[in-house]
Amino acid sequence: MIPVTQPFLPPKEEYEKYLDGIWKRNWLTNMGPLASQLEMELKDYLQVKHLLFVTNGTVALQMAIKALGISGEIITTPFSFVATTSCIVWEGCTPVFVDIDPKSLCIDPKKIEEAITENTSAILATHVYGNPCNVEAIEAIAKKHDLKVIYDAAHAFGVEVKGKSVFEYGDISTCSLHATKLYHSVEGGLLITKDPELLKKLASIRNFGISGFDSFSELGINGKNSEFHAAMGLANLKYVEEIHQKRKAIAQLYDRMLEGLRAVRPVWHKDSFENYAYHAIVLDSEELLLKLKAEMDKFEVFTRRYFYPSLSSALPYLPKLELPVTEDISRRVLCLPMYFDLTFEEVEFIARLMLRIQNN
Ligand SMILES: *Cc1c(COP(=O)(O)O)cnc(C)c1O
Repeated sequence: MIPVTQPFLPPKEEYEKYLDGIWKRNWLTNMGPLASQLEMELKDYLQVKHLLFVTNGTVALQMAIKALGISGEIITTPFSFVATTSCIVWEGCTPVFVDIDPKSLCIDPKKIEEAITENTSAILATHVYGNPCNVEAIEAIAKKHDLKVIYDAAHAFGVEVKGKSVFEYGDISTCSLHATKLYHSVEGGLLITKDPELLKKLASIRNFGISGFDSFSELGINGKNSEFHAAMGLANLKYVEEIHQKRKAIAQLYDRMLEGLRAVRPVWHKDSFENYAYHAIVLDSEELLLKLKAEMDKFEVFTRRYFYPSLSSALPYLPKLELPVTEDISRRVLCLPMYFDLTFEEVEFIARLMLRIQNN
């Protein structure tokens, strides 16, 4: 059986070393020493000024909307994971979907501008598969119309644009450290902002809005993460480069072996590089996709239609809206198995199998 993804686990002894410290200190959560150490090491690794370690990527998005005081309409992408949209609704705002660019699969800046109304207060865009959005165009639009920008950078760990962390774009970027992601802390999330005042506010929101022993400064939530999760993050951080190299080799092997496949890969931002978080292909037709998926399932090679269906037509709590590019791409996009322990022999097997199915 070959799953579509599999979490990375560090050597058990290395995780256990952190546990020894937790037992000694008896400090399990609430901004403990390991959580602080993880924040410092991540800031250093990612080269970002400020960063907060939080519960998960979804709560990070909700906290970002809350901290920026956003209300009304948020222009967003329908081609993302459900949390990108649900956080908007959860915060009492209205998602306004606009279509994506057919090459990058990220939100199309031209369509953003067309969708702006007097009720628009923000843009929430996803760096799809880690591929940076057109951050410069989005920044220019936001400036012109006085809008806040949040990036759902759940997939974009380690990605840079023009040599600078992609997390430093927008007012706030969020990341997910969920077990299925490239780099993880089992469950976890990150909030990144360049603004020290905003950082202070986010830190306060993370801890119920508590400002002193008997005082509260604002509405908050429990956005903290535990020492056990921080320990996994610390243990895994030592392997990030190795994970990146292995994934890169897998992706290159897929690309080489699948040259004859009737499919294209998303076009990457020209001033960036891939982090190999996913291996997505866009097939010529949905028919070919369904045939491949069904036949591969029989061999227990599991692929995932990610993202399908479009968020603008799939959520029972929102009116349905069909956006042509997203509808078309979401029907034809397939993510292939991609994880650290996937072997090159397995990749070759998967690629040969796919070609045989296509050409049959
Ligand atoms: C995984 C993911 C999230 C949610 O992150 P969690 O840590 O699972 O809450 C949000 N947005 C995108 C694009 C994701 O892939």
